[in-house]
Amino acid sequence: MKLRLPLLACVLTACTVPENTPEYPIIARILTSIDGRYQLANVKIETLTDVDHMSGTVGLIIGQAALNVDADVAEIMSSTDPDAVYSDRGHMVQTDYILEDGVVIPQNFQTMEMLGLYSVYERTVAFWVENFDIPFETIGLPSLYYNPRLRREKDGEAVEVSTTMNAAYLPGVRDFWFFKTASREHVPVKMNFGVVAHEFGHYIFDYQFARFDRGAYDTILAVNENFLSGLNEGLSDYFSYAVTQSVTEFGASLPELDQERRLPVSWTLRTSLSGVCTGSFYCQGSVLASALYEIAQLPGQTPLRVAQRAFRSLPDFRNNWLENRDNNLMDYSALLNAILTQAPEDQEAYCNIFRKWFDTDNVRLKLTCPT
Ligand SMILES: [Zn+2]
Repeated sequence: MKLRLPLLACVLTACTVPENTPEYPIIARILTSIDGRYQLANVKIETLTDVDHMSGTVGLIIGQAALNVDADVAEIMSSTDPDAVYSDRGHMVQTDYILEDGVVIPQNFQTMEMLGLYSVYERTVAFWVENFDIPFETIGLPSLYYNPRLRREKDGEAVEVSTTMNAAYLPGVRDFWFFKTASREHVPVKMNFGVVAHEFGHYIFDYQFARFDRGAYDTILAVNENFLSGLNEGLSDYFSYAVTQSVTEFGASLPELDQERRLPVSWTLRTSLSGVCTGSFYCQGSVLASALYEIAQLPGQTPLRVAQRAFRSLPDFRNNWLENRDNNLMDYSALLNAILTQAPEDQEAYCNIFRKWFDTDNVRLKLTCPT
């Protein structure tokens, strides 16, 4: 038996037992992004209401879920039926921490990760709540799946499948997945402000473009599907930048992401098509994100202002997409012109930058520019 002297001493002297119930809102010592640099700091987490089980008013972290991947992973990911996606919907998580002068100090890696994830998620949600008219009370917010396992049935036995994905938004079931951290991640991807804000960008796109209809993404033309995927990625990268106001976030987790996605990128639409960039549809998405980034640096513009205009252009773009997706090859002019409509007094400045990044005639000649 282990003798617990401090407690014994307390009983004898009638002092109070060390308090281990934190005060809300909690302050936690976690690795956090301060202007794109990650450091250990005491961070106030405003909306967490149960730190023991990571539940709060803007999010709930769910652990130990298992995903069915007997079929194609992409197919599963596009499913709208949670029962088809999950073989185990997951369980309440349990954190391990101590209190030091009222500050929550994580006692294991998982607790540190979950607090970090919740914190950057909260910062992301706050940006969208404060600056946009999105009815979150009605549409709800996705759940955060922590380290979900991918399972496949093989010879009657369940085997775990590893994945190259590190984080994902599932439009069909509207959940976020944050996969088990790989050793090559410097800052765990799930604690990365830029990555979490990027995934949330997909949720915003799902709301404003697809109206949460999984079918809105469908097209019988593979080129158009590719185009929409790139556009979705590029917009999510730009939204992530607007939330974090830093271009160094991604690189803090994975150096290769810094090379491929740091804004502004070193290629344009034309050179991306010639193979300068090898990240498939992400390459064109980065051209879009870079153009919006450059506009945001102009006098009179801000990252938020440009994000609002891009956001408001999405219903227009949606109509264009629904009309053409199965019969015409689509290109970025469909979105860029919708953005120009949202920026009547700045069209010339926007056009100059769009022309520079989208330097192929098929896009340039279709832009509705004043000159
Ligand atoms: Zn993405």
